[in-house]
Amino acid sequence: MAHPFDMSRRRALQLAAAGLVLGPMSASAFGQAGTVQAIGQPMPRGVTLPETPPPAPTSDSVGIAIIGLGGYALRQMMPAISRTQTCHVAGLVSGNRDKALQVGRAYGVPDDAIYGYDNLEQIAADDRIEAVYIVLPSGLHAPFAERSFAAGKHVLCEKPMALSVAECDRMIAASERANRKLMIGYRCHFEPFNLAAMQLMGDRQIGAIEHIVSQHTYTMGPTSPATNWRVQRAQAGGGALEDYGIYGVQAALYLTGEMPSEVSATVTTPANDPRFAEIVATVESQLTFPSGAVADLVTSYDLPGRNEAVMRGSDGELIMRPATGYGGQTLRLIRGDQSETLTPGDPSVQFHRMMDHFAAAIRQDTPIITDAAMGRRDVHIIAATYAAAQSGQAVSL
Ligand code: NAD
Repeated sequence: MAHPFDMSRRRALQLAAAGLVLGPMSASAFGQAGTVQAIGQPMPRGVTLPETPPPAPTSDSVGIAIIGLGGYALRQMMPAISRTQTCHVAGLVSGNRDKALQVGRAYGVPDDAIYGYDNLEQIAADDRIEAVYIVLPSGLHAPFAERSFAAGKHVLCEKPMALSVAECDRMIAASERANRKLMIGYRCHFEPFNLAAMQLMGDRQIGAIEHIVSQHTYTMGPTSPATNWRVQRAQAGGGALEDYGIYGVQAALYLTGEMPSEVSATVTTPANDPRFAEIVATVESQLTFPSGAVADLVTSYDLPGRNEAVMRGSDGELIMRPATGYGGQTLRLIRGDQSETLTPGDPSVQFHRMMDHFAAAIRQDTPIITDAAMGRRDVHIIAATYAAAQSGQAVSL
């Protein structure tokens, strides 16, 4: 495979010929997010609601209010919560009451446990709700986490934790003030292929790790900030890196087992493309680790679909392709002339196991693997990546 940074240089020439921008970010490409507001949305496409509500929860089950009824909540996470007995959907918080009533009836949530974004504070008096799960656009994670802690609830927050380290710090302070748990929804830590890869790397099955290549890319269809939060800077930060590239950052860290010491990066953004009026299109970054390992990460909303992580070590290679999806993972271990395909389990368990982990932290006070410190760490690396792209210099971490 071509080294991504060779690819970057080749692309630079192709892109320059096509009138695209490559190189250090312009100062205006990424900066402070503006004010963001929660606004109700229609029912997402492709949602199948349960025909019959899930069975009544056990007395020990943790009641969770879902904040934000979008694609991920309705297609993946609410069905997954129905598959576990450790927690249940006890409330909904939405800006679209008709949608919320329809979803609530399908999931057995009483009408009086449905709240709006403007009256979220009322969940404080609702003992059916012990925790919330924030599945809103990323720019809304911090304000809704702070409001939920002020209402005395535990918080599971989707990735990225927030759009700035300052927001992460506010969330952590609110969690400590309220003495309530804060977990980040990094599902890959509960997914059998990624867990097996972590174990193999920890056992040094490929020897000393030398090089990681991870790509998380797809080509986003025509869209614009007027209709899509994922291309609004205030809701999405720089764009693909916060949303999709964060999986590559995560994988590089949990597979090396190290914190990087330095990051350098380049961003690419096509001119006059409404998709990229506010965000960048492609981020190519390089993390260097104290052991000498190097990770080359590519993320983009403007490159053909790739989801992979390839680890090369002194004694072999570990290939995950796809690496971090909802399903379909593959894992191949190559040592010398031997190649072994591993099938450590069913990737679909990642969603409900993540919920079980959150519920156990609340009920049994077990340590959270994907904690707020991890979420903050990744937001810090993302900020440093943009700073490196902007300055054209490596940034130390
Ligand atoms: P989505 O656009 O499908 O849904 C977002 C929902 O947020 C909307 O339906 C609406 O209910 C609500 N919302 C409130 N204010 C809004 C506003 N101003 N603009 C748009 N929506 C608003 O998005 P999604 O794919 O469900 O993503 C939601 C969160 O989940 C994001 O933080 C994303 O990063 C995360 N996510 C995680 C995974 C994962 O695999 N862990 C996958 C997808 C999304």
